[in-house]
Amino acid sequence: MNIVVQKYGGTSVGNIDRIQNVAKRIIKKKEENHKIVVVVSAMGDNTDKLLEMAYQISENPPKREIDMLISTGEQVSIALLSMALNSMGHQAISLTGSQVGIKTTGHHTKSRIADIDDSTIKKHLKEDKIVIVAGFQGANEESDITTLGRGGSDTSAVAIASKLQCPCEIYTDVDGIYSLDPRVYPNAKKLDVISYEEMLEMASLGAGIMHTRAIELGQKYHIPIIVASSMGEKPGTVIKESEKNMESAVITGLAIDNNDVMITLNHVPYSIRTTADIFDSLAKKDINIDMISQTSPQDNSVSISFTTPKSELSDTRDILAFLAKKYPQISYGINEDISKLSVVGIGMRSHSGVAAQIFVLLAKAGIEVQMVTTSEIKISYAIDSADQQKAVNLIADAFEL
Ligand code: ADP
Ligand code: ASP
Ligand code: MG
Repeated sequence: MNIVVQKYGGTSVGNIDRIQNVAKRIIKKKEENHKIVVVVSAMGDNTDKLLEMAYQISENPPKREIDMLISTGEQVSIALLSMALNSMGHQAISLTGSQVGIKTTGHHTKSRIADIDDSTIKKHLKEDKIVIVAGFQGANEESDITTLGRGGSDTSAVAIASKLQCPCEIYTDVDGIYSLDPRVYPNAKKLDVISYEEMLEMASLGAGIMHTRAIELGQKYHIPIIVASSMGEKPGTVIKESEKNMESAVITGLAIDNNDVMITLNHVPYSIRTTADIFDSLAKKDINIDMISQTSPQDNSVSISFTTPKSELSDTRDILAFLAKKYPQISYGINEDISKLSVVGIGMRSHSGVAAQIFVLLAKAGIEVQMVTTSEIKISYAIDSADQQKAVNLIADAFEL
């Protein structure tokens, strides 16, 4: 079977005309002799609208109920797309995450796919149907509906492609992956290819174009991922294993993230046990920590700063309050106006001096850096969000991104 998984994002199914456009594209692919599994997101910004309603009712609604609510967005799109295909004379069937056997583990609103029972999909494909699956959702061991984190439909698509061992095409509202978000820097260059490693860093550092877990799965199961526009026929970007010539550019991309907050804990007792307790308390609530820095000890105490997603601020505040009670000497501050810029490139393995070059650029513009972290192929800078656009322009211009 010549199977392909196609995923269409929110804008691509944002209204009835667009759903009909998507249906025509699927039919064209089918007529090129493919069996097709389609994964779709909620229409337009429906997920945001559903969440707004939830927060009108409660500041902190039960996460199980949030999942129950926001998973409905995708069900609207799968039903409408299936109706469009059927009305165009093609057999199609819409299925929820739980109906296609997407089993998840972990916490509500950020579950992970543990396994997929692909027998239902295969059965329908054998009957020559187009299978349309609700992205972003699955069911846990208790048969409760779960969701995979914002943007999680990409992960549903790549997970299904991994199970079926077939290519995955992600159709969206840009014609591929750019060196940086073209909405922030309109001169950004489109990339023909990018390695899994680089895309994984870009995604996890805030480039909203792809869900991080989708890249992890693609890399693990060697699934080529093609990202292209749902309008027109331009070739898009291929995400695949790195090749020698990909290292010629020092920096491939710049990820911009203004969805993090920076927490600073002062007067923390200088003891690894306390540090471990702090981060263990956060980990137990499944709070994601990204950048961490610690000052050298003075008077037997240190300051520790870290960044965490704004979406987890409410849980983070609870834990900070708990820690402040447990260690009365600790005081803490929350800075919501930070922006994290990360340069990414496998070329950095063989080129040195990138960090210095960027410090010099920022120094000339008088932009202060609050935190820096590095890995083999990326450097992240946390700066004041008021300086974001200026810093982006400087870095993108200097490295010709
Ligand atoms: P979808 O609804 O199709 O999943 P998303 O909104 O999740 O689409 O992702 C597409 C958006 O990602 C683009 O409109 C673009 O603004 C943003 N984006 C962020 N970083 C990049 C990048 N490096 N290249 C292309 N698009 C990017
Ligand atoms: N509809 C979900 C969201 O808005 C999932 C997705 O679009 O991938 O996050
Ligand atoms: Mg998306």
